Amino acid sequence: MDVFHFSDLAIPPEARARVAQVRDPALWLLENKAKSYNLLDQGPDGSGVDCPLCRNKGFVAELDPEGPRMVVRPCACRERRRTALRLKACGMLDRARLLSFEAFRTENPMQSRMKELALEWLEAQNESWLVFCGQSGAGKTHLCTAAFVQAVSRRRLDGEYMLWGPALRELRAEPEAAPRLLGRYKEAPLLYVDDLFKGRRDLPISDWELRLAFELLDYRYGCKLPTILSTERSFPELVSLDEAIAGRLKERCGRFLINVTPEPGKNFRFRGEG
Ligand SMILES: [Zn+2]
Repeated sequence: MDVFHFSDLAIPPEARARVAQVRDPALWLLENKAKSYNLLDQGPDGSGVDCPLCRNKGFVAELDPEGPRMVVRPCACRERRRTALRLKACGMLDRARLLSFEAFRTENPMQSRMKELALEWLEAQNESWLVFCGQSGAGKTHLCTAAFVQAVSRRRLDGEYMLWGPALRELRAEPEAAPRLLGRYKEAPLLYVDDLFKGRRDLPISDWELRLAFELLDYRYGCKLPTILSTERSFPELVSLDEAIAGRLKERCGRFLINVTPEPGKNFRFRGEG
């Protein structure tokens, strides 16, 4: 008479492994603990990143192959999430999506050179400043934004965005809060000053505005804090407005300074001032 043995059954290897695990209650518990952790849903955190793997917790649980324990490791979405939250904190998240390097159209050699320079600045990964001066309409703001976003992401820096005109109005309107507000811009690990000295060209820039610009930029100059700056003023104009400011810009930029001036009639031309 044939005797039936369980071992005679053709059990697929996965099922055999599963049975073996269930036989080990400690391992089974750990596995379920990891599974439960991974099913916890954190919900949206405002970063706009929706990750099915970690369910927006930023961490994934798994069994440690080295020993019978559960380990929690950072999820691949974590850096994207951090960058998005950093950009959100300085109000740049929506602009970051629109004003990327990929979306920048180069229509002439000047714009190609501008893009190249912004990318070189990014690669340099040091405390140099990036400054685009001169004629509007050349894409200065687009490229400065793209460089800012990438620097926040790659260097893992908290950044501040300072749109000159509105920031000035805010500082003027709240004199008591002004030192704190200005301090935020002065001390930001990365700062993007957009449209420095924007205003009517037939009106002189006030001493107050010049002093404020000097205080901000001199502080960042002294602390070697990376700064991105765009302005419609040409570099020679900056020199005539305030030599000390222009001098600091030039020194911190090195070769990462572009001055865009329109040719009479049509094209732009550019030249580095470094
Ligand atoms: Zn994730």
